[in-house]
Amino acid sequence: MTPSQQPSGRHFPGSGLARGLAVTLRTMTRKTVTARYPDVEPDLPPRTRGVIGLFEENCTVCMLCARECPDWCIYIDSHKETVPPAAPGGRERSRNVLDRFAIDFSLCMYCGICIEVCPFDALFWSPEFEYAETDIRDLTHERDKLREWMWTVPAPPALVPGAEEPKEYAAARKSADRAAAQQAAEAAAAKTESDRPEDGETR
Ligand code: SF4
Ligand code: SF4
Repeated sequence: MTPSQQPSGRHFPGSGLARGLAVTLRTMTRKTVTARYPDVEPDLPPRTRGVIGLFEENCTVCMLCARECPDWCIYIDSHKETVPPAAPGGRERSRNVLDRFAIDFSLCMYCGICIEVCPFDALFWSPEFEYAETDIRDLTHERDKLREWMWTVPAPPALVPGAEEPKEYAAARKSADRAAAQQAAEAAAAKTESDRPEDGETR
């Protein structure tokens, strides 16, 4: 160090050591930020972009996600099916049936555009991130695997007290109630059928 580079303040022998020890003592008492992964699971925020889950029932095969994906890493195959008229005299309709839905996570850049643009809430972020593979081809997750990720998607946060319930919640509850009522009616009908005496049988 040249004389011009000497620090202007006066330094006593051992003052650097004392300063270093002071820093050590100060940080020793602070909460550690080092995560002992993989022994301890990291506590990730619920909106972490880990992997994408597909809620297949909501997908109408509109292809918007595949078209908007900047990496072109969403692969969708489908075919058309004719649906009989809902009421007698009505017209037949055609609908898209999903044959394949896959995302190649070796290309995905986790931008979230596919989730943003899906008009039918069929794609969701999951905070799961432990899906490293030794073969790059295994990073293409097909529809069954994408569905499995759905179980790891966190529930939406609770509504603010007094807030109006989103119409999607009401629609989902109505469908669930209808399905439960239908199930109960079928169970009751099956029970009545089994309780009915056989022909010629007396009680
Ligand atoms: S997150 Fe982005 S890159 Fe990944 S599949 Fe969706 S749109 Fe494509
Ligand atoms: S945008 Fe949504 S509904 Fe349309 S194909 Fe993609 S996942 Fe399905």
